[in-house]
This record gives sequence, structure tokens and C-alpha cells, in this order.
Amino acid sequence: MSDVLAVTEHRRGELRDVSLEMVSAGRDLADEMGGDLHLAVISGDVDAYADQVNREGVDAIHTVEYGEEFNHDVYAQAVEQLADDLDAEYVLMPNSVNGLDYAPAVAEGLSLPLVTDVVDFSADGELEVTREQYGGKVETTIEVSEDRAAITTRPAEWPQAEGQGDAEVSAFDADIDESQIQSTVTGFEEVAGGDVDISEAEFLVSIGRGIEEEENLPLIEALVEATDATLSSSRPIVDNGWLPANRQVGQSGKVVTPDVYIAIGISGAVQHVAGMKGADTIVAINTDPNAPIYDLADYGIEDDLFDVVPALIEEFGGEVPDV
Ligand SMILES: Cc1cc2nc3c(=O)[nH]c(=O)nc-3n(C[C@H](O)[C@H](O)[C@H](O)COP(=O)(O)OP(=O)(O)OC[C@H]3O[C@@H](n4cnc5c(N)ncnc54)[C@H](O)[C@@H]3O)c2cc1C
Repeated sequence: MSDVLAVTEHRRGELRDVSLEMVSAGRDLADEMGGDLHLAVISGDVDAYADQVNREGVDAIHTVEYGEEFNHDVYAQAVEQLADDLDAEYVLMPNSVNGLDYAPAVAEGLSLPLVTDVVDFSADGELEVTREQYGGKVETTIEVSEDRAAITTRPAEWPQAEGQGDAEVSAFDADIDESQIQSTVTGFEEVAGGDVDISEAEFLVSIGRGIEEEENLPLIEALVEATDATLSSSRPIVDNGWLPANRQVGQSGKVVTPDVYIAIGISGAVQHVAGMKGADTIVAINTDPNAPIYDLADYGIEDDLFDVVPALIEEFGGEVPDV
């Protein structure tokens, strides 16, 4: 038996979608290695979160009631103690900002090898993991020769687990050493435009260099309003200072998993695709029939965005601004 302990994630009172991806990734690994899947739910409204992650394929859920928000030192201690208590062979953590904050400490504390940013598992006697490199141009397979490991999995690579589960939920009494808590979250301050988390949006209208100049933004904003979407972009838009950094999709921006992603004047460079390939339905509007975004798109409109976008705004009952 090679048991897996997967760690869930929440922020500001809400379970993050990546938690349900951790259930799928954890089940995948547990099936490959022949073991049980345990989930850790740490801090915040643990009972509600445990209920939400109780999906098919979960064998047991362990809650650690300590504090409200994510805390690096609490997570590191709680995960380490729980993994030890369960004798779990594999500790799975999200390759998120928070996950990367405590995963190395967990690996160090448990003397485990750490493999980060994993996108797939397979097993041939021993565990093999796939990682992507050079912005997704190269895939590497790594044999994990030890039979225990700490692993972080890339968000949006596994589907969100579905189906109600019936795993037993139990409280784990972690012995948190408060003298080891070196920092705490005292509050949140929004940066400009920070009210929007594009990684949680269900419908994104995303713009690229094809919009040519900042003066054309109101046209796109009218489409965003008419469709009740959220605005995101490729990197050049952020580099030009037309939108804040938290709107950037891609390798050095955010990974998004909306139901619908409309890419307007975006070529589909690998660094951009790394952030949006997990979208359910991709629509591309681009004049260049050879643009790589068309390799990925479910629907393509090979036309000038300055003709297509006003037509879409009208179709959705919005008003086309003069730009
Ligand atoms: C280390 C590194 C990290 C990076 N990280 C990111 C990242 O996180 N996110 C990211 O996006 N990029 C990232 N990049 C940059 C990336 O390589 C591309 O340069 C960038 O994604 C291109 O953005 P774009 O598609 O908007 O622009 P372009 O590649 O210039 O594409 C513009 C597209 O608009 C189309 N177009 C032009 N006019 C019209 C029109 N009137 N109507 C319709 N279509 C039109 C063109 O045909 C073209 O396909 C990174 C690069 C590096 C080296």
C-alpha cells in the first residue's frame, strides 16, 4: 500500500477550486501506486471545507482546526505531523503560491525528495512523474526512485473531482508549536484592480497585442460588460501598462480554467497557452489563419477584431463605444 495525503487550499473564507483538482490528482496517484487517498483540510471553516471536498475517490478526510487563514508555519507543521501519523508514502500539495510556500519545508521536515510542478503520474514498478519545461515545449519524465516523496501538482492539469463521496471526516490534533510561527496574515489590501481574481473566473474575455493601442480598451470593456465576463490579457498588454499584472494569463501570469475563454488578438505563444489551455471552450478571434491559438481553439473567427467585437457587443445587447 502506498497511501497519498493531498492538501487542500482555501482563501478568504472560500475553498479554492484547486482543492477539487487535488482530489483528482491524489486519486490518480493513489490508483497508480495502489493506496488510499487521505485529504488534509487545515484552518478556516474546516467542517464546511471538508464537506465540499468529500468527493468520490476520497478515503478519509482529516481536519486541523487552527486559525482562519493560510499560515506557512502552521501548514508545514500540520502536514508534516499528519503525514507522519498516517505513514503516508506521498504528500501531494498544490503548486500554488501557498503550496510552494510550505512544500519545501514539509519535504525537509520529513526527509523526502521534493518534485515540483508535476502534470502527470504513471507507474512502472516505481513512480514516474511528468513535468513540463521551457514553457511547455519539452516534457520530461522523472523516475522517483524512493518509495516516498513530496510532490506539488500544477493547477488546472487535473479535472475538479465530482460526485458526492462518503469519506469519514475526523479531527487531527496537530501539536502546533507557536514559537515556530514566524509570520501571520494581519489583513488583506487590494492593489488596483485586485478585486478580480481571474483564476476563479468562469468567463474570460482576453486581449492581446492585436488591440494595437490603449485607446481601444473601451471597445473590449463594452464586450466584457455586455457578456458579463471578466477581462484578462496576454503579457504585452500588462507590459505596456494598459492592465494591471493580476490580469495576465500565462507562464509568468496566472493559470485560468474558465468555462469560456475568448482570445482576441492573441497569437497563442507557448507562454500564454501555459496559462489557459485548461479552459473548457476556447474561442479565438485573429486575422492570421496560422496563429498557433487556432491549434487550440474550439471555435475560430478569422477576421478583424475591430469588425468582430462591435458585432458581438450588439449581439449581446450592449452599446458599441466610439473608439
Ligand atoms: C520567460 C517568458 C515568460 C512569458 N510569460 C508570458 C505570460 O505569462 N503570458 C503571456 O501572454 N506571454 C508571456 N510571454 C510572452 C510570449 O512569449 C508572447 O510574446 C506573448 O504571449 C504574445 O502576446 P500576444 O499574443 O498578445 O501578441 P502577439 O504574439 O504579437 O500576437 C498578436 C496577435 O494579434 C493578431 N492580430 C493583430 N491585429 C489583429 C486584428 N485587427 N484582428 C484580429 N487579430 C489581430 C495577430 O495576428 C497576432 O496573432 C513570456 C515570454 C517569456 C520569454
